[in-house]
Amino acid sequence: MSNKGTKSPRHASLKRYAPFEPYQNVSLVKNGHIARQLLNHTVVAFHNRRDNDLTKGQIAARDGFVQRFKRQRREYGKQIKPGSLASFENDVKYLAARLDQFFFFNELGPNIKIKGGLDVVGVDHAGIESKIDGETFSCMVRGREHTQININIGSNHTLYKLDAIVGQLMHEMVHAYLQVFACNCFWCSRDALNTVGIEHDGHGSVFLMLHRLILTEMRRWGDDGLKTLLSEDCPGQLISKSARGRAHAVFAQMSSEEKEKFNGLRANVRKNILIRFNDKGDRVIVAPSLKMNQIRWEDSKRTEIMRREEMRKEMINEIAEESSIDSERQEYGGEEHGDGDADYEEGEEYDEDYTGQTD
Ligand SMILES: [Zn+2]
Ligand SMILES: [Zn+2]
Repeated sequence: MSNKGTKSPRHASLKRYAPFEPYQNVSLVKNGHIARQLLNHTVVAFHNRRDNDLTKGQIAARDGFVQRFKRQRREYGKQIKPGSLASFENDVKYLAARLDQFFFFNELGPNIKIKGGLDVVGVDHAGIESKIDGETFSCMVRGREHTQININIGSNHTLYKLDAIVGQLMHEMVHAYLQVFACNCFWCSRDALNTVGIEHDGHGSVFLMLHRLILTEMRRWGDDGLKTLLSEDCPGQLISKSARGRAHAVFAQMSSEEKEKFNGLRANVRKNILIRFNDKGDRVIVAPSLKMNQIRWEDSKRTEIMRREEMRKEMINEIAEESSIDSERQEYGGEEHGDGDADYEEGEEYDEDYTGQTD
């Protein structure tokens, strides 16, 4: 089945990204984006990039995250002293803000509220697990909507280990990101089984892919703790077993009538999909062309910006020279600088959108 040509006109387009001005500021539209396009756009900005190809903000965010993680790590996994909860809650907020900057274009912050505490979550409303440690849902307070993340940083007066908390936090942030920015129109909702997952679950393939690729990147950040982040749930290169298991369980619980409301489940393994699963469906594969085309485009833009700057300087020199000649010769009037020659083009063209894949 092809979705090409049936794209609803109300989907927000994504401007091409590059880690430098004027392309680095991505503004996303709430519930405006086709999930798969949002996935590609997000992954392209962090996946397998060298430091030279990250923004300064990303590098600062990553460094801040790693420093705080290393410094605070030994404070966790212990009994909590009375009155000390606030500083741990602060850690969670600080780390979340750094993740937002590195992975989510800093777009998540204004739309979410995070509550970390001891046993702030527990009941699994889907009835799949005996206890859960994180939840993300949309919330209306005084007429304003936000997305609420609640996570347990410990249970029974004892703090969890910081890597477990960070793993849970990242998981919930991926939920929040898709809840806030992925489109939920009729067309997109119909395809939820293949994208963000159905409501009250949210572990569809787009979630599993983004979650795993963020995890892969975070594991590159540190020797201990981070290198083995979520190693039980996602050993080696595997996607989250628990999230995938939940998606399967929720699907199995659906009646055939409910299933009919959705497009059939696709494996998302076809080779023409830029971000797909392997044939077994337990790993994520990013087509090298996604990165290569992006880096090539960035390089061409860098060259273009450099050339423009060169030309600007040359023009300034030329004008300065001419005006000094002018003033020497006292020649006023009749001189033209050929102001129509400037090759500057105001505004950039963003003709190449990420195309949504079809399957
Ligand atoms: Zn839509
Ligand atoms: Zn989840």
